[in-house]
Amino acid sequence: MTEPRWSLAIHGGAGSMVPGSLSPEQEAQTLAALGRALDAGIAVLGADGAALDAVEAAVRVLEDDPHFNAGRGAVFTYHGTNELDAAIMDGATRAAGAVAGVTHTRSPVELARAVMEHSPHVFLSGAGAEEFAREQQIEQVDPDWFATPERWRQLQELKAKKLGWFDVDLKYGTVGAVARDAAGHVAAATSTGGLTGKRWGRIGDSPVIGAGTYADDRSGAVSATGAGEFFIREGVAHEICARMRLAGEGVQQAADTVIGDVGALGGDGGVIVVGADGTTAFSFNTSGLYRGRADNMGLREIGIYTSVS
Ligand code: ASP
Repeated sequence: MTEPRWSLAIHGGAGSMVPGSLSPEQEAQTLAALGRALDAGIAVLGADGAALDAVEAAVRVLEDDPHFNAGRGAVFTYHGTNELDAAIMDGATRAAGAVAGVTHTRSPVELARAVMEHSPHVFLSGAGAEEFAREQQIEQVDPDWFATPERWRQLQELKAKKLGWFDVDLKYGTVGAVARDAAGHVAAATSTGGLTGKRWGRIGDSPVIGAGTYADDRSGAVSATGAGEFFIREGVAHEICARMRLAGEGVQQAADTVIGDVGALGGDGGVIVVGADGTTAFSFNTSGLYRGRADNMGLREIGIYTSVS
């Protein structure tokens, strides 16, 4: 079988969505946003651009869209703030950048990339990360930019029902992208508001290199979504890449095995994966995963539920 010259997969979060649980408008708007994110990545890859630029472009579209739990539309912390986490990784060099707990940076993935390219570090957090953002002249916004009425309602519901530490309705919504470009390089990016009602400076898997995000030209690239604590403990993204590189597993097999392990620990969620050969795969143990994929050979798929919708 011929390999695609380039390929791209995106996600907008795993969750308990089933056909009929979203209003027709919500469903249409979400699918349209996934389509726009896919197009942003395709525009880069189709012009022989870099996988790194493609994953950043796709994630930035979803960060700005209020339907997803990243950037605008991020979930609220217990104290009613939005604290954003993001990561990006370049499979060619295994350079990586990540930020956690930022509150004013419009595009956390842009800041993660600046950490990778313009700092000597991999991972910055909180006020220091935003001091760096200002130095780098990365767009800062009033925190109101991120807030949406629907996310506020979800926080009030969680508090009223005393639902515990996790969003038991599994309304994730983290966003991510993985790509392989025409030069054969892979990249991954992930951005999130974390979990509704989080506190104590909680950080999930999304910005943790090797857990929610990983890329290595020798194997592939992964972006995850789900109950972050389990994804950190499993080292999901690195584990999938390691299985492909060391055990010779294919993308789907590696992804399914690791999501199976996460499930065995008690965690829910999913991943998008691209292999070094450009093969893409989705794997999730929730009923839904907002997702899309495309390649230069005419593949274009957007879906939400277990079967492609
Ligand atoms: N994985 C994210 C976290 O734990 C949540 C999500 O996927 O929506 O912060």
